[in-house]
Amino acid sequence: MAQAPVEQGGDGSRVSSVCYWHPDVETGLSCSRCEKRICSQCLVQAPVGIRCRECGKAQPMPTYDVRPSNYLLAFGVALVILVAGTVAWVLIDQFLFALGAYGSVSGLVAVAFGFITGELISRSVNRKRSTLLGLVACAVVILAYLISRPINPFGFGIFQLLFVGIGAYLAWQRLRP
Ligand SMILES: [Zn+2]
Ligand SMILES: [Zn+2]
Repeated sequence: MAQAPVEQGGDGSRVSSVCYWHPDVETGLSCSRCEKRICSQCLVQAPVGIRCRECGKAQPMPTYDVRPSNYLLAFGVALVILVAGTVAWVLIDQFLFALGAYGSVSGLVAVAFGFITGELISRSVNRKRSTLLGLVACAVVILAYLISRPINPFGFGIFQLLFVGIGAYLAWQRLRP
């Protein structure tokens, strides 16, 4: 990258006021972050003022700026939900079954499960969002359903899939970009 003209106030004759990227363009504007001179062609409007292209690009919306540490925590929470949630799901269904509930009532558990899964994962990543987080939340809901079926008193039902779909959708909505 070309060296920017630096301020030379030594002899007082010349203080740089040309664009960092266009040395032939005079400008009174500068980036609010790195303070490089920028011309009207180069500036990017940011919520905090004008910025150069580099700084404008370097600052993604924090909500969508998901770090590896966020993913690690989200995957951990997802795993805990998958294990603990599947057990809880089966216990709740055994309770409902003992009360004489219909299989579709079990479907409502799937909806609640999806909602809670999305909420917990979302909280673990400070409400950040990404496609991968959404897919992980969906996967937890679907896997928990499939794993719990062989030991679930209601067994497998085609109507349940509808509710599981709603549950997975709710989880996705909480985390999708
Ligand atoms: Zn800048
Ligand atoms: Zn420029």
